[in-house]
Amino acid sequence: ASWTRENGWGGSEVIPFGPLSLSPATAVLHYGQEIFEGLKAFRHADGSVWTFRPERNAERLQRSARRLALPELSVEDFLESLKAVVAADEPWVPEATSEESLYLRPFMFASEEFLGVRTSHAVDYYVIASPAGPYFPRGVQPLVVWITDEYARAGAGGTGAAKCGGNYASSLLGKDEAAEHGADEVLFLDSETHTSIDELSGMNVFAITRDGRLLTPSLTGSILEGVTRESILRLAEDRGLEVVEQKLVMSELLEQLGSGEITEMFACGTAAVINPIGEFRAHGGTWSVGDGGSGEITLSLRQELTDIQYGRIPDRHGWLTRLV
Ligand code: PMP
Repeated sequence: ASWTRENGWGGSEVIPFGPLSLSPATAVLHYGQEIFEGLKAFRHADGSVWTFRPERNAERLQRSARRLALPELSVEDFLESLKAVVAADEPWVPEATSEESLYLRPFMFASEEFLGVRTSHAVDYYVIASPAGPYFPRGVQPLVVWITDEYARAGAGGTGAAKCGGNYASSLLGKDEAAEHGADEVLFLDSETHTSIDELSGMNVFAITRDGRLLTPSLTGSILEGVTRESILRLAEDRGLEVVEQKLVMSELLEQLGSGEITEMFACGTAAVINPIGEFRAHGGTWSVGDGGSGEITLSLRQELTDIQYGRIPDRHGWLTRLV
């Protein structure tokens, strides 16, 4: 709609997937000015295709754009771009019964050719799509999470709350370190004191207490504001769980795991949905979460969320947007 030449855009089109041609002097290749989003398109039983809370992704892309000195795409244009791509890729949206989806990856980068350090005056915006099954090869199984004391994902005043490529570049060694210790994922602590929980490399973290409270780290500026996180807080409130967003000190949490005060933990994100955490590992030892299995509340929240996404129960919060 508004990405016209008069508004500084070069127009838009849907083209077959293929290589990009970029000058070696393209700004993003040198200064990393790149932001992205991740959403899913879900097929419902009647064949229609929907996505989940895309306005929240559009708004987050705008916040990321502001932080990375890139232009903001309107919510309307963002939605239009998703609709255009999913309409063209409609045959690739998996069947409703498969519990799979079409993953959508919108991204924007600085495309001006120059080598000086300054904001770019040209950007490219793309949306690509790919069918997606389970995020972890083992499916919905309790995760083993490695607590890294070596790497931090984001610093105060940095880009931690933005969804930009560089944050993931800085998290990769932490993921490798986790894999070396036999873990599925890495947990990053805050970069200043290295004592409180931030998030995993691609998921937010929750804990459930024996007395029915749902705990999650408050948004400190170095944690990604997950759409799944926000939705779970809402679903939990609906169930009468007491929701607590606060600083979660890792050592206290490990004690609460030992004493049985925390009974379940899980990680969440668009790609992984909700995945139980069964065990933490660190240089100092291992800690089991509950009996190391999948918690009841965790699995029931996952069921409710996916039931909404696949249109199996009423969308009481109006979270779904039809794409096709
Ligand atoms: N934290 C990080 C670092 C992530 O990459 C993601 C995935 N986008 C999340 C949290 C979860 O966010 P969402 O629920 O919006 O997918």
